[in-house]
Amino acid sequence: MVKGTRDLYSQSFGIIGSGQLGRMLAYRASLLGFVVNIYSDKPQSPASVFANSEVVGSYDDSLAINKFINQNDFATSEFENITTKNLDNKIDPNPSAIFTCQNRLREKTLARSLGIKTPVFSKITNKDEAKDFFAKEGAFILKTTEFGYDGKGQYKITDQVSIDNIIFNDKEYIAESFIDFQLEFSVILTRGNDGHVVFYPSPINKHKDGILIESLVSKAFNEQPFILRAKEYASLIAKSLNYKGTMAVEFFLTKAKEIIFNEIAPRPHNSAHYTMDLCNVCQFENHIRAVANKPMITPVLLQEGKMINLIGNDTIDLLSRYEGMQNAKIHLYGKSELSKGRKIGHINILDL
Ligand code: AMP
Repeated sequence: MVKGTRDLYSQSFGIIGSGQLGRMLAYRASLLGFVVNIYSDKPQSPASVFANSEVVGSYDDSLAINKFINQNDFATSEFENITTKNLDNKIDPNPSAIFTCQNRLREKTLARSLGIKTPVFSKITNKDEAKDFFAKEGAFILKTTEFGYDGKGQYKITDQVSIDNIIFNDKEYIAESFIDFQLEFSVILTRGNDGHVVFYPSPINKHKDGILIESLVSKAFNEQPFILRAKEYASLIAKSLNYKGTMAVEFFLTKAKEIIFNEIAPRPHNSAHYTMDLCNVCQFENHIRAVANKPMITPVLLQEGKMINLIGNDTIDLLSRYEGMQNAKIHLYGKSELSKGRKIGHINILDL
C-alpha cells in the first residue's frame, strides 16, 4: 500500500440529517472514499442506506450532536433546522452561518446590510402589526420566521379579513411585500476553505403552491448580465458568513430586470439537483470536497435540460412517462409513502 493511503481511506465524514439531501451527500462521500456516519432523528433513514453507521438523536440535543461532530474527521448538516446553541465549530457550514440562515428576518437583514435589495419586510407578532403592514404596503406574504419550507407556514394576505383569520399563537412571523416577479432563479455556489468560490449555472425555478416543481438550465439564461450581478451578491453573502460548502441563494427577477433577494439555503439545494447529470461535478461532491478541505472542481454545464420534482400523487404519471427514456435520469429517495406535497425523487432530463 502506498504510504498514506490507509489514512486517506479511513477518514470519516459525518452528516447531520437523514433525508434526501443527506442521502445524496452520503452517496457522494462514500464514492470519495469516506467512512460515512449519519445523525438522524429516526432509525433506518433514507440516508443510512449509503452510510457505515447511523446515530439516532434529536436535532435539539447539542450535547449529542457535538459528540457526533467530534467523532468524525469532517461534519456537515443537510439542513438548517438544528440547534446552533453551543454547537461545536468543527461543523460546516459554521454554526453562526446556520444561525443566520435559519431565520428569515436575520437572513433578509444580512442581505440588506450588504446592499442587496429585498422585499420590504417587517417582524410581525400580532394582528395589529399585520394590519399596519397591510395599510402601508398593500398585499403581502406572511411567513413564519423559522421552520417554514415548501410553502408551509405561509399566507398570502390580500385583505384585512384574511388577517383576522390567522391565529398568531405567540409565533414570530415576517411580513414581506408581494413581489410581482417575471421569474425566480437561484445562484448555487461552493465556497472552499481558502475563500475560493465556484459557481454552477443558475437555473430558472418554477413553483406550485410554494413547492419547487421544475428547474430549467440553459446557456442563454446564464449569459444575461443580471446573472453576474446575482453571483456577486451570493458570493458577498457567503464571504460575510465565512461560509464553507455549497449554498443556494434564491432571487426574484422583476420585469424591470431588478434582482430581489428571497432566501438562502445553507446547504445543497433542490434547484441544483440537475448538476448530478447535467454538469461535470454535482453540488454534493463539491460540498464534500469543500468541507473536507479538498480541491473543488470548477463546474461546467455539459448539457442543457431540466429537473422535474416527483411530488406526491403526480409521481406515478411522471414515472410512467419518463421511465426508460434515453434522456431521462430518474433519482428516487427511498421513501415508501406517496402523500400530498411529499418529494419522492426527481428526474433530470437532458436536451439531447
Ligand atoms: P419561500 O419559502 O420564501 O422561498 O417561498 C416559496 C415561494 O413563494 C417562492 O419561491 C415564491 O414563488 C413565493 N413567494 C415567496 N415570497 C414571495 C414574495 N415576497 N413575493 C412574491 N412571491 C413570493
